[in-house]
Amino acid sequence: MPFRNDFLDIIISGAGPAGCSASMFLSKNGIKHTLIEKAVFPRDKICGDALSGKVISILKSFDVQTANELSANQELFNPCKGVVFVSPNNTKLSIPFKLEYKAEDKAPGFVSKRINFDNFLFNKTESPFCHRLQNCELTGIEKLENGLKITTTTDKISSTINTKLLIAADGSRSIAAKQLGGILIDKNHYSGGIRTYYSGVKNLHKEGYIELIFLKNYQPGYFWIFPLPNGNANVGAGMLSNEISKQRVDLKKMMIDTIKTHPEISKRFEEAVLEDSIKGWGLPLGSKKRKISGNNFILCGDAASLIDPFTGEGIAPAMISGKIAAEVAKRAIEADNYSSNFLSQYDKELYTKTWNETRLSYMLQKLTRWPWLFNFVVGKAARNPELQKMITSMFDSVDLRKQFTNPMFYLRLLFK
Ligand SMILES: Cc1cc2nc3c(=O)[nH]c(=O)nc-3n(C[C@H](O)[C@H](O)[C@H](O)COP(=O)(O)OP(=O)(O)OC[C@H]3O[C@@H](n4cnc5c(N)ncnc54)[C@H](O)[C@@H]3O)c2cc1C
Repeated sequence: MPFRNDFLDIIISGAGPAGCSASMFLSKNGIKHTLIEKAVFPRDKICGDALSGKVISILKSFDVQTANELSANQELFNPCKGVVFVSPNNTKLSIPFKLEYKAEDKAPGFVSKRINFDNFLFNKTESPFCHRLQNCELTGIEKLENGLKITTTTDKISSTINTKLLIAADGSRSIAAKQLGGILIDKNHYSGGIRTYYSGVKNLHKEGYIELIFLKNYQPGYFWIFPLPNGNANVGAGMLSNEISKQRVDLKKMMIDTIKTHPEISKRFEEAVLEDSIKGWGLPLGSKKRKISGNNFILCGDAASLIDPFTGEGIAPAMISGKIAAEVAKRAIEADNYSSNFLSQYDKELYTKTWNETRLSYMLQKLTRWPWLFNFVVGKAARNPELQKMITSMFDSVDLRKQFTNPMFYLRLLFK
C-alpha cells in the first residue's frame, strides 16, 4: 500500500460529504493528511439528493467560487427554490425558501444525484496536503497507548499503519463508530429509507420545489418527489425504523402501492419510466446526543448520527461536522494533544451549532404522528398568505420555528 509517512498523523476514513469537507478544510489550513475511501469515484450513494442552503453556505466558507460552480452547472445541479408540504388529507402548502426572490437571485438549494455531487466534492479534495487512496477500506482498528493502529485492505491485501488522529467519516455502517464510539443502532433514533429514479413524472414544480408528501401510513416519515435536472425525479420514502418493525412495513411495497393507487400521485406517474432499481439504506438520526469523539478519534456525519429527524437532511450536518473536525484537528496538532478530554471540544462545538435545531426537528417529527394536526396547520396556511409568509420566515429562523412546538401557536391559528 503506497502510504506516505509524512501524511499519516491524521487519517480520514470515508470520502462522502463529511470526509471530503474535513479534508478540504484541513488542506485550506495547510495540514497534511491521508484520505482513504473504500469505493472508487464516481460512486453512488442512496439518498434523496436534496442539497439545502446550508450546503451552499459551507461551500462558500471554503471558497465562494466552489459554491458558484453549482449554480453554473444546471445539467448536474437542479436549482431548488422551495418546498411543497402535502398533508395527509392531500392539502398542498408551497413554501419558498426566501420571502421574495429578485430576478438575479440564485436558488438557495439544489437537487443533484449523489454520484455527481459527491464526485464534485471529491475533486475538491485534490491538494498537495491531501494524500488520497481509493479502493482502500478501513477494516480494523486497534487502540495503542498514543494513537491507533489502523488496518486497511485493498484488493484483499491488508496493511497496517499508525495514526495520531482518525477522523472517521465512514457513513452509517462506520466501524469506528461501533468499535471506538460504542454507537449501535437505536431504532427509536434511526430511519429506513428507499429511493429510485424516474423520468416522465408529471407536474414537477417549475422552480424545482421539493415535495414532502406526508401520507398517513408513512408516519413518522414521508414519501417524496424531488425534481432533478433534465426533467427526472428522485422518488423515495423514509420512515422511523421502530415503526417499520412494529407495523411490519415493507417500505418498498408501500411505495409502489402509493405510486400505483394513490388517487393524485398515480396520475402523475401514468407515463413515468422507472430508471433504476429501488434501493434502501439507513439514516442514523441526530435526535439523541452521543459522545462523538474520544482518545485519538473524531466521528463525523452519519458515523456520528447527525441526520435531521424531521426532514432527513444529512448532507449539511455531515459537512458542518467535517469542517469543525478539521478545526479541532488543527488545534490538536498545535497542542500535540489527541486525548479524549482535548477532543471533546469537537462534541461541544458541533452540538452548540446544531442541537437546538435538531431538537426542534425531533419535536416536529413527533407532531407528525397526529395527522389531524398536520392537516389543520397545512389547511389553514394554504388559505392564508400571511401565515405562508410566516412559515417561510420560520425556515430562516430556528427561534421562529420554535412556535410550532408552542400550543398557543395552534390556538391562535383557530382564529386566523
Ligand atoms: C434514502 C435516503 C435519503 C436521503 N435523503 C437525503 C437528502 O435528500 N438530503 C440530505 O441532505 N440527506 C439525505 N440523506 C442522508 C445523507 O445521505 C447522509 O446523511 C449523508 O450521505 C452523510 O454523509 P457522510 O459523509 O457522513 O456519509 P456517506 O455519504 O455515507 O459517505 C461515507 C463514505 O465512506 C465510505 N466508506 C464506508 N465504509 C468505509 C470504510 N470501512 N473504509 C473506507 N471508506 C468507507 C463510503 O464508500 C462513502 O464514500 C438520505 C439518506 C438516505 C438513506
